[in-house]
Amino acid sequence: ITDKISALPDAANYFSLEFFPPKTSMGFANLQARLERMSQALRPLFVTVTWGAGGSTASKSLELAELCQRQLGLTTCLHLTCTNMSRKVIDEALEQAKVLGIRNILALRGDAPRSEEYREEGALPEDDSNKDFTWAIDLVRYIRKQYQDYFCIGVATYPEGHSDESHPEHQDPLHDLAYLVQKTKAGADFLMTQLFFDVDAYDKFEKMLREHESGVFETIPIIPGLMPIQSYQILRRTTKLSHAKLPADILARLDAVKGDDELVKQVGVGILSEIVEHLKKRPSPCRRGFHFYTLNLEKAVAHIVENTHLIPSILIDEEDEVAIDLGTPSS
Ligand code: FAD
Repeated sequence: ITDKISALPDAANYFSLEFFPPKTSMGFANLQARLERMSQALRPLFVTVTWGAGGSTASKSLELAELCQRQLGLTTCLHLTCTNMSRKVIDEALEQAKVLGIRNILALRGDAPRSEEYREEGALPEDDSNKDFTWAIDLVRYIRKQYQDYFCIGVATYPEGHSDESHPEHQDPLHDLAYLVQKTKAGADFLMTQLFFDVDAYDKFEKMLREHESGVFETIPIIPGLMPIQSYQILRRTTKLSHAKLPADILARLDAVKGDDELVKQVGVGILSEIVEHLKKRPSPCRRGFHFYTLNLEKAVAHIVENTHLIPSILIDEEDEVAIDLGTPSS
């Protein structure tokens, strides 16, 4: 991923798309058809495939990653969590990713399965073979130790805090900062953010990282995570879960149409397009990219990348150009 970003022309922007593995074979077939269309029409720089916490989707995530990388020829990034599952699952996922030709891993901690409070009990499920993995940094270190520079590694980061007392973990960009420095120094090649709608909070966060005295964030790609608005209900649910604030003006625009799903989507495309345009104008030490949480849906993200001119033009490689210049020889 970082090689592809560096190879882009100076002022170019890029985008990536996230997909999750469907539960059923019918869902998988539908997604396959959608992915074929989207990869040809939208040409993302890369795609990412999510990983169920605790390895719950291990084989389905790898199946989807294989489809993306091998069959569709897309640069694919596999998400991988490291807590609440045995080390064997981590080893197998990394080995399988390598066999599939996948060169990118988003290294995550993951969360405890909601039904079982392993962390609070201070115990691990079934076996304790992954007792060395407590934070995402442990996975970053492990991948670097086992695979050196074979994988390009991304890590997660959170532009916004929250003061939800009922949440087991306090989230705060300032509190996270020292750990993010360590996680990056341990071998992260790029940062990918949690979804957000508050561009001021994001600008402040990115500035804090770029200017950090450690210098580790000076030029590293920081890819903002954006979620196209699919419905009013989904939006309210996902922003609550991810602790993303909905600025008052955005909420007012959506509240005004919340009874009409089609209008919500249209207004949502407008809102997301404005966020992209805003961020495109911000100075950046590297090519600016955007990561879209697609929820496996096609239309909204297609409109957004089209509106904001993020779709790259088709590059004709040199041999084809020569063939076109000379004309195809007749038999
Ligand atoms: P960490 O970097 O380990 O940080 C977690 C918390 O611990 C932070 O508050 C940090 O400040 C703190 N911390 C870190 N190190 C230490 C330390 N040494 N001592 C004390 N505190 C410390 N989840 C999934 O299950 N599957 C996915 O596919 C998935 N994809 C994601 C993609 C993105 C872009 C993002 C932003 C999140 C994703 N998540 C996914 C969610 C993620 O697993 C959770 O948010 C998880 O709670 C934290 O993961 P992390 O990698 O940020 O953890």
